[in-house]
Amino acid sequence: MIRFAEEFESSLMNSKQRVIIAGSGVIGIACAHYLAEAGFEVTVLDQGKAGGACSRANCGYICPSHIPPLTEPGAIGVALKSIFNRESPFHLKLRPSPALWQWMWQFARRCTHQQVLQTGQVLQSILDASMEEYHLLMKRFSKQCEWQEHGLLYVYETEEGMNAFAKTDQMLEENFGVSATRLDNAGLTALEPGLRAGLAGGYHYRGDTSLNPEKLNQAWVEQLRRQGVEFLENTELQGVEKEGGKVVRLQVKDGMLDADYFVFALGAWSSKWSDSLECSIPIEPGKGYSLTMKRPEDSPFHPMLFPEKKMGVSPFENGFRLGSMMEFVGYDESIPARRLKLLRDSARPFLRSDVDGPTEDTWYGWRPMTWDSLPIVGQVPQIDNAYLATGHNMLGLSLAPSTGRLIKEMICGDEPHIDPSAYSPLRF
Ligand SMILES: Cc1cc2nc3c(=O)[nH]c(=O)nc-3n(C[C@H](O)[C@H](O)[C@H](O)COP(=O)(O)OP(=O)(O)OC[C@H]3O[C@@H](n4cnc5c(N)ncnc54)[C@H](O)[C@@H]3O)c2cc1C
Repeated sequence: MIRFAEEFESSLMNSKQRVIIAGSGVIGIACAHYLAEAGFEVTVLDQGKAGGACSRANCGYICPSHIPPLTEPGAIGVALKSIFNRESPFHLKLRPSPALWQWMWQFARRCTHQQVLQTGQVLQSILDASMEEYHLLMKRFSKQCEWQEHGLLYVYETEEGMNAFAKTDQMLEENFGVSATRLDNAGLTALEPGLRAGLAGGYHYRGDTSLNPEKLNQAWVEQLRRQGVEFLENTELQGVEKEGGKVVRLQVKDGMLDADYFVFALGAWSSKWSDSLECSIPIEPGKGYSLTMKRPEDSPFHPMLFPEKKMGVSPFENGFRLGSMMEFVGYDESIPARRLKLLRDSARPFLRSDVDGPTEDTWYGWRPMTWDSLPIVGQVPQIDNAYLATGHNMLGLSLAPSTGRLIKEMICGDEPHIDPSAYSPLRF
């Protein structure tokens, strides 16, 4: 039930300190977890269903091997070519948007080898810290969310692809201590009989894990509700009221909500709140799609990436998901049939199983993309009691627990478990 301003005032003091989290994707949920554990009274509001946006039908990988940021040398060439190719898995649609141009310019400036190493180090710290937290969380949730420790298999159709990735693999090993098992064709099909014969090979990152994201969100929200966390669904944030350098209340469609602290975990929508929060939040939506069908009989066993096609395959207990694409097309809500066809067409050459089964779910998600590939986690620069937890790019599921823990540490004034300075909103 919503507790509105007057009600809140009458129950002041005696009560616990109160936090409102705007946005209940996996990041908002993770923040709620650590704040509730620390003894705060927590309300999470969302314009839709909890866990219902970009955190719903993604690929479900928790992948500490994903250290290289998107700002790789050559990335801007791929982006420019994609302007003229609507069928490319990566697609940039030119729009008269100063924010998009600024974003692209800042992104392009960072596409150097040196930046890959620097950003990679900062990403690795939050990826590894999150994985440690997941191991603790999964003592409670592993069965409910289909947690798997089968690693992540990168599969290549061509020798050219294998050899190109060998450089990245070597870079990961030499600079970050992350190593994969390199598999030739025979080794690949021995490990994963669901793959077709004749593929060039693959790399198996055994430290990666996976889960069913919808099931995680559902189990986590149910557990938090039992602990007393309030989830307000279909409750759109409409305004932020400030007084004396603090946020005092949020305006939602049915009234006002007060709290002591406010966390803004609004994913790809975050940039819309730049003016209200008086700070730059340079996030563009990076649209991706997934298509889920029944698990076919000879489904592969491992979660897999086919990097040449820029797509992922996620086998679940009963489902089978193909996910891919990165489109910079603004806040576009369509799911074009040609994009779903591309998912099936891209998967077909790799898999023995039928990829043309009846569709059970089609989905798009807007990834919250920052131009430096790093999340934004920290206090809003001009506002004492407001925090941003957003900008998790392609890794929100993988980075959620450490983000939630950092937010809790910042609000409580605790020693942070990792150095958060590189994620600060002050960098913009
Ligand atoms: C195809 C695809 C595959 C992916 N696979 C993976 C993967 O395997 N592993 C991984 O780690 N990541 C993956 N990701 C990325 C991951 O899904 C995102 O990084 C993550 O979901 C972002 O979480 P979030 O909580 O920030 O955003 P969201 O889940 O989008 O949550 C933000 C919430 O804010 C709410 N909101 C916005 N505005 C308002 C408002 N005004 N009032 C109230 N509520 C509001 C929205 O309704 C939404 O629920 C994938 C993404 C895609 C598209």
